[in-house]
Amino acid sequence: MVHSWELVTAVDGPGTRMTTFLAGCPLRCLYCHNPDTMSARSGTPVRAEELLTRIRRYRQVFAATHGGITLSGGEVLRQPAFAARILRGAREMGVHTAIDTSGFLGALASDALLADIDLVLLDVKSGDPETYRRVTGQELAPTLAFGRRLADLGIETWIRFVQVPGLTDVDENIAPIVSYAASLPTVSRVEILPFHQMGREKWADAGLRYELDDVEPPTPARTEHVREMFRAAGLTTY
Ligand code: SF4
Repeated sequence: MVHSWELVTAVDGPGTRMTTFLAGCPLRCLYCHNPDTMSARSGTPVRAEELLTRIRRYRQVFAATHGGITLSGGEVLRQPAFAARILRGAREMGVHTAIDTSGFLGALASDALLADIDLVLLDVKSGDPETYRRVTGQELAPTLAFGRRLADLGIETWIRFVQVPGLTDVDENIAPIVSYAASLPTVSRVEILPFHQMGREKWADAGLRYELDDVEPPTPARTEHVREMFRAAGLTTY
């Protein structure tokens, strides 16, 4: 079940990328900017071969920009068999492969699937389990376990953290993410993503209640402070 796809540059991994958003997600992040992808019903059935044909068309673009494909969502690991076929097919074409995931369903990813991934964008939404539960409705532990498994397998990982004032953007909540990221030798980059209100209308369109109406984006100084927390631990941080 695929929600949509787009060609992007300098986001979701290196170079120009074809990012495909798979429909359905087990999390309910209060700040989700794609709430329309939460339900599996928001997607349309697409055969793996169709998507691979589209990927094949852009092979030259990916090669010229050192880009590739990124499977995102929703949650890509909710459809592990489909993801595995796409990743394998892309690999066979020599295309760089990435997934963007919360890691919550990491246990559903087989070693064979992971062997076809060049880069994982791992969204660590909170360092404190209680805050994680409040923000996502789920548990933090599976995400941490998945990141450690990626490290054991030697798979390059970028950690992503969304900085939401009054919710996740608290030093005590961020410090455990810093230590966690610094403990994984496979983490080559950390991205701090300041909260914004651009997804607000999508909540209303999807008929869902949005709880962050009054939240302002963090100040640039505060974002810089958070980035410095990671840099101080020796992590390359943007
Ligand atoms: S994991 Fe991503 S798609 Fe799922 S609810 Fe959270 S932000 Fe939205």
